[in-house]
Amino acid sequence: MKFKRVLIKISGEAIAGENGYGINEDVLRSICEGIKEAYKTGVDIAIVIGGGNIWRGKNGKKMDRTTSDHMGMLATIINGLALQAELDDLGVDTRLQTSIEMREIAEQHIRKKAIRHLEKRRVVIFAGGTGNAFFTTDTGAALRAAEINADAILLAKSVDAVYDSDPKLNPDAKRYDEISYEDILNKKLRVMDLTAVSLCMDNKIPIYLFSILEPQNIVRILNGEEIGTKIS
Ligand code: UDP
Repeated sequence: MKFKRVLIKISGEAIAGENGYGINEDVLRSICEGIKEAYKTGVDIAIVIGGGNIWRGKNGKKMDRTTSDHMGMLATIINGLALQAELDDLGVDTRLQTSIEMREIAEQHIRKKAIRHLEKRRVVIFAGGTGNAFFTTDTGAALRAAEINADAILLAKSVDAVYDSDPKLNPDAKRYDEISYEDILNKKLRVMDLTAVSLCMDNKIPIYLFSILEPQNIVRILNGEEIGTKIS
């Protein structure tokens, strides 16, 4: 295999399906089937789940940002539970770790424990982002990927690649098969939070952006197929 260990970042939006809000269990199921296929290749799989399908910090108009971000982090834990339930149902052994302590329902994030789970062939789901307000789960993904020595981040999106402008609005948008971290930062391409991109750059973690609308794409990337965009 091309990789030994990867971290898959799944945005909250990805599991919302067409209505863009909440959790669509059919969509969640098909994503989890894609994860199971990837798991069966023998590659270690960790997942960071977002929360934008339920709440984002910037949704709060009147409340203070920190409180609103705390709500967003709790949303990622709701999604983490849903993801875990679905993977369990498919017979995939999982552990859910949260960066905010929630003892009754999940493990607290401890790096060495997470690595041990991966070594024991469990899929580790990280919820709660970085555990700090003013960050995003993209940055959480970059952080956890660095901590567990992941060989790559698989960035699951609703778009199929990085473009220089929105392909839905601009039919001439340029599609990138490969792009450097520097170009993403300089051109301010909004494919991933810029803090996350610079963290990946510092730690030399390649990012493979692909469309999660086809969940088999996960296993295709693990098999070395060149789909989507590689950021390195
Ligand atoms: N969040 C946060 N700190 C983190 C991760 C997330 O405060 O380390 C909050 C933030 O308000 C964010 C929300 O949780 O808007 C949901 O996360 P995110 O927007 O990254 O989810 P996604 O877009 O991936 O669904």
